[in-house]
Amino acid sequence: MKQDGQIKRRPWIEFALISTIITLAVVIIFFISMNGNFKFQKTTTTASATDHVKESVSITDSEFPDIRIVTERNSGTNMTYNISYPKTTFDNVNQEITQYITTSKDIYQSELKNSEMAKGDLHIEVALAQYQSELYSITLKNNITIDDRAHNTSIQTYLFNKTTGEFISTKELLNDNELYLNILAKYVKSQLLANNNYSNYLYSEKLIEKTAPQWENFNRVAMNEDTFTFYFNKGEIADPIAGLPTITIPVSFMNPILAETYQNGETINTNILTPYDINTKRVALTFDDGPHPTVTPQILNLLDKYNAKATFFMLGQRVQNSPDIAKDVWNRGHEVGNHTWGHPVLTRIGDQQILEEFNSTSNIIHETIGQYPSVFRPPYGAINDHVTSMLNLPVIMWSIDTLDWKHRNANQLLTYVQYGMHNNAIILMHDIHQSTADGLESVLAYLQQQGYQFVTVSDILLIEQLNQ
Ligand code: ZN
Repeated sequence: MKQDGQIKRRPWIEFALISTIITLAVVIIFFISMNGNFKFQKTTTTASATDHVKESVSITDSEFPDIRIVTERNSGTNMTYNISYPKTTFDNVNQEITQYITTSKDIYQSELKNSEMAKGDLHIEVALAQYQSELYSITLKNNITIDDRAHNTSIQTYLFNKTTGEFISTKELLNDNELYLNILAKYVKSQLLANNNYSNYLYSEKLIEKTAPQWENFNRVAMNEDTFTFYFNKGEIADPIAGLPTITIPVSFMNPILAETYQNGETINTNILTPYDINTKRVALTFDDGPHPTVTPQILNLLDKYNAKATFFMLGQRVQNSPDIAKDVWNRGHEVGNHTWGHPVLTRIGDQQILEEFNSTSNIIHETIGQYPSVFRPPYGAINDHVTSMLNLPVIMWSIDTLDWKHRNANQLLTYVQYGMHNNAIILMHDIHQSTADGLESVLAYLQQQGYQFVTVSDILLIEQLNQ
């Protein structure tokens, strides 16, 4: 019975064993193929017999605990890319960023196809910073090269609250204030015009359009604890040869036009970025031919005493001789102007010489104070349309001449001011004569008592524009 039973059962056992083996084999093959498939998708694909395409995605930490960096690479084709972008803890932020990355890839592919060129590369790099320990500032720099030649460079920025993920616009930073926007627009434009890296390459109509006081013109902004940087895309306002026009402004200068919650650290009340009370009377004191090693510091102390801002039209050679004083003028919130290198009569010299006088002075001012001059005054007031057309700064004359260089009499300074005084006056003085420093306090005291606010010449220009 036992044998019979064994014999009777054998086919069933064999069937069960074979089924198990087949099932196992199928499962194993399935897993092997799955695994292979998975690997295949993740790290390699084969586009053709000759190309060996490599795609990879990696995620690394950033300097901030709640932001990671995603890097996507694709090499080995004629359409390579190397893209880095942040992954935050907020879905809305991540969504915006991945949408931008997808669009960038699409644009890259279509531009490469349109160009019928052999080979392209898309490079997107990310820069992160925080502001007031409360906002994250993300900057994506998008660079396309075609056949190893730079094709297009653009900037995308994001600003969002670290706790809520809420995006912050420039409009919110400036408290939705149109006057603040006007002040910012005017300043950014003047800095672009004054910057020798861009000024010769600017497209004048595009510059006017893209620095017009409209919020969308100033939405590409990056911040860190010390500075605001406003970006323009390559080719947007200047010849691509000029690169990526950027204007960086210290936070201490931005504070007067920021909404209270976004003000950060000390405020330097440079009037260049200070809002105005339209009903106040104003006067612009200007000092030419310095900086002087002993007279200029006395004038700076008097201006501080009266909380007055002024404009100093400097000679390049004097800036070279007294760089610390030039720097002090700027650091104390005054405006710095170009007054040529060696004080020639510009209407009597050649074009080449005019440009040398002008550019060498702008350059040494930039080297010394870190900013280009924002205004120009011709020596002796000698100017004509031809000279004006060669220079890329507003040309500033004066409405009251104190003749301080002629009489050298401290007591007469006030007399000349009183005689010609009017609202929005621009007063000409020289910070190289001891008599001017000696007579200045009575001028400051008188004008203050008359209700005048002491502003820079750019302020006067801006106010005139705003009043038009
Ligand atoms: Zn002069």
